[in-house]
Amino acid sequence: MEICVIGAGYVGLVTSLGFAKLGNNVICVDIDINKVVSLNNGIPSIYEEGLEDMLIECLEKKNITFSNNIIEGIEKSNVIFIAVGTPEKNDWDIDMSQVYEVISQISNNILNYRLIVIKSTVPIGTQKKVNKIFLENGVSVDSFDIVSNPEFLREGRALHDFFNGDRIIIGCDSLRAKKIMKELYEPFTCEIIYTSPETAELTKYASNAFLASKISFINEIANLCNKVGADIETVAYAMGLDERISPKFLRAGIGYGGSCFPKDTKALVKIGDKHGIDFKIVRGAIEVNEKQRFIPIRILLNKYGSLEKKIITILGLSFKPKTDDIRDSPSLTIIEELIKNNANIKCYDPIAIDKVRNIYSNIMYCYNLYDAIENSDCIIICTEWDEFNSLNLGKIKDSMNYPMIIDGRNMLDGKKVREKGIEYYSIGKSN
Ligand code: NAD
Repeated sequence: MEICVIGAGYVGLVTSLGFAKLGNNVICVDIDINKVVSLNNGIPSIYEEGLEDMLIECLEKKNITFSNNIIEGIEKSNVIFIAVGTPEKNDWDIDMSQVYEVISQISNNILNYRLIVIKSTVPIGTQKKVNKIFLENGVSVDSFDIVSNPEFLREGRALHDFFNGDRIIIGCDSLRAKKIMKELYEPFTCEIIYTSPETAELTKYASNAFLASKISFINEIANLCNKVGADIETVAYAMGLDERISPKFLRAGIGYGGSCFPKDTKALVKIGDKHGIDFKIVRGAIEVNEKQRFIPIRILLNKYGSLEKKIITILGLSFKPKTDDIRDSPSLTIIEELIKNNANIKCYDPIAIDKVRNIYSNIMYCYNLYDAIENSDCIIICTEWDEFNSLNLGKIKDSMNYPMIIDGRNMLDGKKVREKGIEYYSIGKSN
């Protein structure tokens, strides 16, 4: 098929490459000309495992091109995916300006039939609203269909998830659209659910809010473990053996971040408010998550009283491992609190460091883990990158000013760390 994907971010780029790899011809459109130029030169704009190789392969096979000309994309394609951002507004509402800008451009430039597929996470009712806009802009009912097809990929495993998703959900109210979507998703083996647009739109928010609630739930249990001397690892493991619960998303820590869970949970609460439904569980999950990030600061203040001139090392900046995405990362909240407390900050991340460099000028960026640890008064692990599993504890003890680790991701063996003479704090582990 001839496909246009609008937005070359985490979702748009992965969707473009995935469909190109499957043999479709894809034109991926973005307003960011630098992104377009670098992608056409085979240089990825984001970090994602396997992405660079797939980009080069698809460019060589001429299955994909990148452009900043949306009209070209609309003209050349039968199916148009919308994968632009839907960030959070200050009042927890969703900023839909990118989506409606694109909708306006498509509806003003459509000549023949086009299938418009909304991949961005959008409020319930958006498909209907977009349909209305097309008709109001004079597009004939025969010339378009709008489908809701929310994305469930996880950053860090995005390409894997594109090809091996747990399910694909397609919300549409036209047989013509359903037929095209069926053909497009023909190579996929997972269950494909055809439903109403509203159901598809809500499923995305419900899934993210549920997963976020699971994380906040286990974090509250972990906080209690810290008080009563129980061990969160064992509690979570034993809970997870129950098939009804499952072991996934039961890892305690300093909370979730990223561009989805924080904004999607808040958006669901806001959507609920508009319909007279108070999402108490989701509100609770948000509140727990926001507090969780402050635990390392509390531990530090209890220990040192004042953090003035203390050297604090942040290990891990991205909101989770295997991605360079730092949007709403707990590490940033911690850095900001440390700055407020006049601490000296050194940080290290294997991939995301340059993204943070653009935000804070007054902290020290290290490209070597052990440089970041030298003379430090405390290490805070904010992201569970694999390489932190094999820290040289002897070297750490010798090079720190005061040997102390706050393991915000519960990834180290506390017993081994303490045996080396390093003070160790976790989120609810008994050792
Ligand atoms: P992103 O910010 O990484 O990418 C959005 C891209 O759209 C940017 O490159 C931007 O330049 C481009 N853009 C903005 N306006 C444009 C316009 N008028 N024309 C062309 N390009 C334009 O966002 P993302 O993380 O890829 O998320 C996209 C959507 O997918 C959001 O709704 C998000 O909630 C949803 N989603 C994201 C993830 C994820 O893990 N990132 C997972 C599932 C769903």
